[in-house]
Amino acid sequence: MLAALERKGISRRDFLKFCGVIGAVLAVPAEGIGRIAEALASVRRPSVVWLEFQDCAGCSESFLRASRPTAAEIVLDVLSVDYHETIMAAAGRQAEEAKEAAIKTGGHLVIVEGSIPTKENGLYCCVGGRTAMELLSEAAKGAAAIIAVGSCASFGGLAAAKPDPTGAVGVRDLVKGVPVINLPGCPVNAVNITATVVHYLTYASLPKLDEYGRPLFAYGKRVHDNCERRAHFDAGQFVEAWGDEGHRKGWCLYKMGCKGPECYSNCPTVRWNEGTNWPVGAGHGCIGCTQPGFWDAMTPFYRRLPNVPGFSVESGADKIGIGLAAAAAAGVVTHVVGTAVRRNKAKAEENKDNS
Ligand code: SF4
Repeated sequence: MLAALERKGISRRDFLKFCGVIGAVLAVPAEGIGRIAEALASVRRPSVVWLEFQDCAGCSESFLRASRPTAAEIVLDVLSVDYHETIMAAAGRQAEEAKEAAIKTGGHLVIVEGSIPTKENGLYCCVGGRTAMELLSEAAKGAAAIIAVGSCASFGGLAAAKPDPTGAVGVRDLVKGVPVINLPGCPVNAVNITATVVHYLTYASLPKLDEYGRPLFAYGKRVHDNCERRAHFDAGQFVEAWGDEGHRKGWCLYKMGCKGPECYSNCPTVRWNEGTNWPVGAGHGCIGCTQPGFWDAMTPFYRRLPNVPGFSVESGADKIGIGLAAAAAAGVVTHVVGTAVRRNKAKAEENKDNS
């Protein structure tokens, strides 16, 4: 693989730097970086079947737009992407045959982007005259693992927002007997796809997951815990209106609706666009897109999180987070109820302000 990368102008130094970055994302100790480099340099290319269902191709875009040494180049050189509707050169029967051959051989990785509609026997999403449900079930047979990229493939995402006309669900709701790893986000961060694949290639196993099937290395900490605005939260310095003095000074966005205290993701540490920035760094609150129940559970985006009874903002987001995490564990119904409560509270606050 190193030779292939060198032909593309990626030096050994860049390659080792890449291994170091991925090692840091995976929280591998320094001595483990060599193992990653060794595994990637010698690995046989596993076959990948990338399926797109109810999606906007945003996760494909996110993956392919990672910068040099690109996650895409590295992983595309390590993997054999035998089927990907958006980027593959083959079309029609030729494309279908490539997919069938990969599935027949077995031991492949399936990457799923987009939710799967289940109403009307799945008729709302068909590719080549076959439903997403059928295609997913076929691709899952004999697969080593399925990686659900983005919030739609993980939990239903935007398509599952009320009134959910297609009965959209995530991969884990349908596939049994094959390990499924969820990499939610709208879109997924390419670094997390790469790190998951590198973990699989290096250790021949998937990383440890949380209760929602998300790898702990990427979703084990709250956004709020690593946020650069956290000191302002603790000091009670909040943006009160877009463009006000606090906003210009980089104060906390909690009162503008930031969902960082109830959202688990490594966004603040890995960031986006080659680590340049991330939404909160750019002045917008976190919208909680990596959480189950997103979108309904996180809207309205510009209303602050509800005050958990007994806790004020100043008492610390840890307590708020614990209260909300417990609510989240009770499932989507609770999220919907929570949204309604939030809306009522917001209305009550508005009425109070207007009176
Ligand atoms: S509430 Fe949002 S902006 Fe404020 S510290 Fe937490 S994550 Fe950062």
